[in-house]
Amino acid sequence: MSGRLVIAGAGHAAGQVIATLRQKNFPGDIILIGEEPWLPYQRPPLSKKFLAGKLPAERLYVKPPAFYDEPPTTVMLGTRIESLDRGAKAVVLGDGTSVPYDTLILALGSRVRRLPRMPGSDLDGIHYLRTVQDVRAIQRDFAAARNLTIVGAGYIGLEVAAVAADLGLNVTVIETQDRVMKRVVAPQVSEFYEREHRSRGVNLLLDTGIERFRGSTRVDGVVLSGGKAPVPADLVVTGIGIVPNTELAAAAGLEVADGIVVDDRCRTEDPDIYAVGDCTLHPNRLFGRKVRLESVQNALEQARTAAANVCGEDVRYAEVPWFWSDQYDLKLQIAGLSQGYDCAILRGDPDGRSFSCVYLANERIIALDAVNKPKDFLQAKKLIADGKTMKMNMLCDTRTELKDLSA
Ligand code: FAD
Repeated sequence: MSGRLVIAGAGHAAGQVIATLRQKNFPGDIILIGEEPWLPYQRPPLSKKFLAGKLPAERLYVKPPAFYDEPPTTVMLGTRIESLDRGAKAVVLGDGTSVPYDTLILALGSRVRRLPRMPGSDLDGIHYLRTVQDVRAIQRDFAAARNLTIVGAGYIGLEVAAVAADLGLNVTVIETQDRVMKRVVAPQVSEFYEREHRSRGVNLLLDTGIERFRGSTRVDGVVLSGGKAPVPADLVVTGIGIVPNTELAAAAGLEVADGIVVDDRCRTEDPDIYAVGDCTLHPNRLFGRKVRLESVQNALEQARTAAANVCGEDVRYAEVPWFWSDQYDLKLQIAGLSQGYDCAILRGDPDGRSFSCVYLANERIIALDAVNKPKDFLQAKKLIADGKTMKMNMLCDTRTELKDLSA
């Protein structure tokens, strides 16, 4: 539990690893190495309040800068790790320097999925959104823009659409699927969000592909497939998913699938290497399968688990996943994982803009989306953790609390 602990990647999970190590009085040296020039910060506001200009950059930090001044923490920012040398137990930097470790925690996160190469896909004005720098570039373009086109109607695309519509831009969202957020929510929830965005003037083009981007050096329009009319665009923001950063681990011979493979204690197959956050594929006992999650909850909980285990405890990670998305004045809170549901039941009337959608598999609750309905969200987390079956025929009765509807 002593020695030199290196954290590779200085994102949300890394900040929490250090906080937990401190709480547990870890006596060794901590070395934090991150490619970005910033101390660990929160990404969720990047497509919400920070993009809207309603949150100062200092408020993004996971922990205030002074937190890292405390010895024995060494912080190396703007520093990319190029490889892992497991034989020598060191991480290797771009200039060839080796930083030795006794324990290594990989907190490498994920990166944006880029558009497939097509004519115009490298034009100026086509943005992705993962970092503070990305947001600053988008904001500069917002200032002079009238027409914004967003590629992808997942959480990030729709959050950007909401911010931009509120700022008065003409917003078009292009999505290849036949409904928004199809990967994660039921058709009833997609329909609700489609109505909300359209009612704010957002032009939602579903079932629509892109043929090419128009423009000479800078994008000025998007040509759609199937002969649909082109869309004017002063800037484009792309939100088509992420790719976990697994390459360092794979090159070092660690097991990698759709993420760096870890067990429920966040250990890789190498006893000296842990991995946490977006970059991991980990078992979830509650759902009986391995999952890769892209969420703050997962980054924080895995960070706490790994740090506790480094300190000699024996902690297993078995949490109900949860997530949120803010669009306009709608707070969507998602508990559990809905994949594999056989029945989705609405509680409450979407027209009242406060409702939830319960996902069941064999009458057992596996997930819930709550729109402006925090009580259902909180109660669902516990019901899902307890593996409760529900009184199906009464679920839509909102006079009865969700917690009282388990069978
Ligand atoms: P990251 O925060 O991505 O940190 C990983 C760090 O490692 C990065 O700084 C990266 O540069 C660095 N790194 C990678 N490779 C190297 C290398 N070779 N050398 C050195 N450093 C390296 N989640 C929610 O739960 N709710 C939300 O509402 C929500 N909204 C989001 C909105 C946006 C715009 C984005 C981008 C994400 C959002 N997320 C949200 C997801 C959430 O932010 C991530 O799940 C979380 O940041 C994961 O933390 P992490 O530490 O695993 O990875």
